[in-house]
Amino acid sequence: METDPTAVCELLVGLGEVTIVDVDAVDPDEPIRVHIETRHPRPDCLACGTPAVVKDRPRVELVDLPAFGRSARLLWRKHRWACPDDTCRTRTWTVQEPRIAAARLGLTDRAGRWVAFQVGKHGRTVNEVAQDLGCDWHTVNDAVIAYGTALIDDDKDRIGDATALGLDETLFSRVGRWRRQAWSTQIVDVGEGRLLDVVEGRNATGPASWLADRGETWCSQIRWATLDLSGPYRNVFDTMLPAAIQVADPFHLVKLANTKVDETRRRVQNETMAPGPQD
Ligand SMILES: [Zn+2]
Repeated sequence: METDPTAVCELLVGLGEVTIVDVDAVDPDEPIRVHIETRHPRPDCLACGTPAVVKDRPRVELVDLPAFGRSARLLWRKHRWACPDDTCRTRTWTVQEPRIAAARLGLTDRAGRWVAFQVGKHGRTVNEVAQDLGCDWHTVNDAVIAYGTALIDDDKDRIGDATALGLDETLFSRVGRWRRQAWSTQIVDVGEGRLLDVVEGRNATGPASWLADRGETWCSQIRWATLDLSGPYRNVFDTMLPAAIQVADPFHLVKLANTKVDETRRRVQNETMAPGPQD
């Protein structure tokens, strides 16, 4: 068991080789603010090997996971180093510490992983998660995109194999002052009932380039292609999956048949009821 108060504090904060400089937790309505600095040895300049000098000590505030029932912030006093050799091409640099936080993100690494998990795995909204951490929407959203993209890029077998592929349009969001409709195309493994991906727009461009990325071998295994009778999706299948049998789903087929019957009924009715030339 650890009894040294400084070591106890460091264990609680759980970031390894960091010194806890100060903890600000007086105001119960404010987040706990933990001030830290890393215990790096003084580095040498990477270009010329001269021992570096401290240029300045920028402070960054990071949103961390809640601690002891309160939201928490990590105030990290970094070291910006400089090469003292005037003839050296290296001027200044900051040592990154990815275990604490990824560069340019407003969340600690552990908070970034947690928010990506909450949104990606549990389907919670960014807004909800931001409220849990007591921070703004953009801070959480930036982290979800950064960590989520890395996870997707890392999972090479994410798509798997499919023999039946479906395309369907979905209204993704409404954007801007006039709440313009932003559409997306869902790409589905119809055989397994699995959503494979979502691409921007409801025209042929997104799904066609998605299929092009999969490659010829992957595309050649698709035997059935389902669609809602839309022209752009038919183009995608005609050009990218010419060997696949196109299947229209019953809902859209029946809807189209009803529309045609209606049109015919109206035309015949107009022709029958229209006054003849002798009347
Ligand atoms: Zn140097």
